[in-house]
Amino acid sequence: MADEQAKFGAQMMQPDLNGVDAEENNLRPKHLEDYIGQEKVKQNLKIYLEAAKRRGEPMDHILLYGPPGLGKTTLAGIVANEMGVQIRITSGPAIEKPGDLAALLTNLQEGDVLFIDEIHRLSRQVEEVLYPALEDYALDIMIGKGPSAQSIRINLPRFTLIGATTRAGQLTGPLRDRFGVLLKLELYSPDELAKIITRSAGILEQPLTPEGAAELAKCSRGTPRVANRLLKRVRDFATVLSDGVIDQDTALLALKRMDVDALGLDALDRSLLRAIIEMYNGGPVGLETLAAALGEEAVTLEDLCEPYLMQMGFLTRTPRGRCATRLAYQHLGLALPQDTRGETPEDNGQQSLL
Ligand code: ADP
Repeated sequence: MADEQAKFGAQMMQPDLNGVDAEENNLRPKHLEDYIGQEKVKQNLKIYLEAAKRRGEPMDHILLYGPPGLGKTTLAGIVANEMGVQIRITSGPAIEKPGDLAALLTNLQEGDVLFIDEIHRLSRQVEEVLYPALEDYALDIMIGKGPSAQSIRINLPRFTLIGATTRAGQLTGPLRDRFGVLLKLELYSPDELAKIITRSAGILEQPLTPEGAAELAKCSRGTPRVANRLLKRVRDFATVLSDGVIDQDTALLALKRMDVDALGLDALDRSLLRAIIEMYNGGPVGLETLAAALGEEAVTLEDLCEPYLMQMGFLTRTPRGRCATRLAYQHLGLALPQDTRGETPEDNGQQSLL
């Protein structure tokens, strides 16, 4: 039971690999000026959009990359909105065959945005159909088989592909090269997250004090999706246990009840660090071994837990595996081991204990 609760808590805090939650849509900013943070990305995108509009051309193809829940889908929607075109949303694994992609592409209107989430998961065959579509707005289709097979070319409307990925490194070179614009989204600062939480509370008509927003922001793992989810759950505590307002006390009480610690680490993050420390002596330990020990998928740990743990300086990735840092021991209140050479570990908290 405790385990199940921990798992539920963990799911709540993780940005979610499988994307869109229907409720999320009403919290999505529709215009670039409502999109909080990511200043560099926004400033550049503003110029590209303005230039494309002035030339009367569709936007160049855009690749967005960064951990889940940082606003890639939202940004794609904003691009379509600012350009005054429709957006079609799909994902790499949903496009199984070249024919699926051909159907999507031939149904686009001039200037439309096609958003492919998890674009690194497209199959090779599908990717090959995509190349001429991106470069020449054309589809090459093979008709027939064997020596009598013929290739015919179908022209497509000019469109903008927006690809999103959590792992730019897994994209093939030829695909990456066909994007004219590459934008990397970064984790958000607590101040930016407090603004996002305040904006969302306004839309949800939820009273919230600045101190309440700041408490939630600190625990949101740099991720707007987590911030919005925390807000919704803490709202329940405020409604039932207090006067309906989310202030600092209510926020702290709710976070404690949800097993989220002061830095936003949830049960899964803490189990991951504890496993490295208690089962593997601080590391290094391979990701797969760690995943098996925790009964989780390696991709869950890698995409959802690790970016934040690394940003907080609790975890390092080395060629030999994952290591817990001195800060991780301190955060969990565990005694630092003595080095086998009788020295204490490196003083820099960011450094692993090896
Ligand atoms: P991703 O596609 O990167 O997984 P989403 O675009 O689905 O992330 O964003 C998740 C949620 O976070 C959305 O509901 C959106 O409202 C919110 N969000 C993301 N980025 C921002 C931002 N910059 N400003 C305000 N809200 C944001």
